[in-house]
This record gives sequence, structure tokens and C-alpha cells, in this order.
Amino acid sequence: MAANILVREFKIPMQDRICIDISPDVQVKRVFKRLGLISKNASNDELIYCARELHPEYPGIFDFSAWEIGREWCRPYNPDCNNCYLKQFCPRIIEK
Ligand code: SF4
Repeated sequence: MAANILVREFKIPMQDRICIDISPDVQVKRVFKRLGLISKNASNDELIYCARELHPEYPGIFDFSAWEIGREWCRPYNPDCNNCYLKQFCPRIIEK
């Protein structure tokens, strides 16, 4: 997460971003689950490998966006799907 913040926020140059993984935060994981990108009982490793498959050059690129969507719209209860950026792409796999 620290390396990701250095790249994303402070624009610190790095040779590459291959090793900057997504952070398995609770918000990030919830969004990935509801999008159907990982299984409902996914481990942190499944999330990390999913992000690596989606964007091998910089797996951590999803980190802040997914976290923000999880915090603002894709909340644990009563997600605000109507105002979510992802509503047209999301299967809305929401556990009851
Ligand atoms: S559309 Fe709904 S379920 Fe899907 S990511 Fe957005 S808030 Fe979450």
C-alpha cells in the first residue's frame, strides 16, 4: 500500500509497477465480490491474483478506485447502485 501511495499520490518514479499489488482492504474486497470478479468467500490472495490478471503491468491501479466506490456507493448495507459508476457493468452480487 505504501509503494502504491508513493506512485499514485506523490508520482515517485519506479522502474515498473508490476510488483505493486492491490491492497486487500474490506471495501476493495466487497466491490470485487459484488462485481463478480472474485468468489464470495475469496481469500486475500484471490483478490491479489485477480488484480494481477486484470492489469499485470500495475495490479495496484484498482486500489483507490475500488476503495472509494466501496466507501461511497457500494456500502455493506443498502448499496447506492443507482449512483455508482459501475452500475451498467455490475451483476450486483449482493449477499443477503
Ligand atoms: S453497482 Fe451496486 S453492487 Fe455494483 S459496485 Fe456499484 S454499488 Fe456495488
